[in-house]
Amino acid sequence: MSDIDIPESHPRYESLLTRHRIEEGVAAGITSQQGLIAQGRGEAFDYLLGEETIPSADAAERVAAAYLLAADHPVLSINGNVAALVPGEMGELAAATGADIEINLFNRTDERMETIAAHLRDHGITEVKGLTADGRIPGLDHERAKVDADGIGDADVVLVPLEDGDRAEALGEMDKIELVIDLNPLSRSAQSATVPIIDNVIRAVPNMTAHARELQDASDDELAEIIEQFDADGTLAAAEAAIRDGDADL
Ligand code: ATP
Repeated sequence: MSDIDIPESHPRYESLLTRHRIEEGVAAGITSQQGLIAQGRGEAFDYLLGEETIPSADAAERVAAAYLLAADHPVLSINGNVAALVPGEMGELAAATGADIEINLFNRTDERMETIAAHLRDHGITEVKGLTADGRIPGLDHERAKVDADGIGDADVVLVPLEDGDRAEALGEMDKIELVIDLNPLSRSAQSATVPIIDNVIRAVPNMTAHARELQDASDDELAEIIEQFDADGTLAAAEAAIRDGDADL
């Protein structure tokens, strides 16, 4: 048993645990009400993917790890769903890649920002960006555009899990390399990403950390070669094919 009263042998254990964490996130003021809707949408795609990391997603996670390791200033963006689902795991990925962590909310309130920052600190993340909000993403309305000038504002590579399409596109227009985790290969976020990762954030983040650890001694040339060989369109097509032709057996 884990933090819910369901045996780990239950065939839908991971899905039920995810749902439970989101519910708790809403109750704690970490996740927004809209986060529940995003979760439901994600679950449907995950079901069709067989609730597993398909090979093209694993390959994209390795490429994303290479990008983070090769970056001058990588930043991992955290929203209310990510904070509820994988707070400690994001901290481990940041440690493995030397990335900063920044809270970036669609529905930003000072209270939610502070609640999430405290939650992340409880999970061992000592430096949390996003509270200063002295930078802006051009082309978005005021609240949604806020970033830290020395965080996402200055980053060359940004990991944006579960991002909404407008902001993903606006970040892309700032010439930032965007690594997007999104279970929907047709979402605008996935479509506009440099590296679309079509996987559940619960599986994707620890797997990226494992790849980053495996690549930690790789040379700049080796990282560049991994990056060079990546095919974003092929990755999206492979995920869509898995969903459409899938033999999910749950
Ligand atoms: P777009 O504008 O890009 O089309 P959207 O506005 O439809 O996106 P939301 O409804 O905000 O996006 O949902 C966020 C996205 O996050 C959805 O595409 C959903 O599939 C995805 N998602 C939800 N939960 C998870 C999860 N646990 N892991 C990965 N992706 C998830």
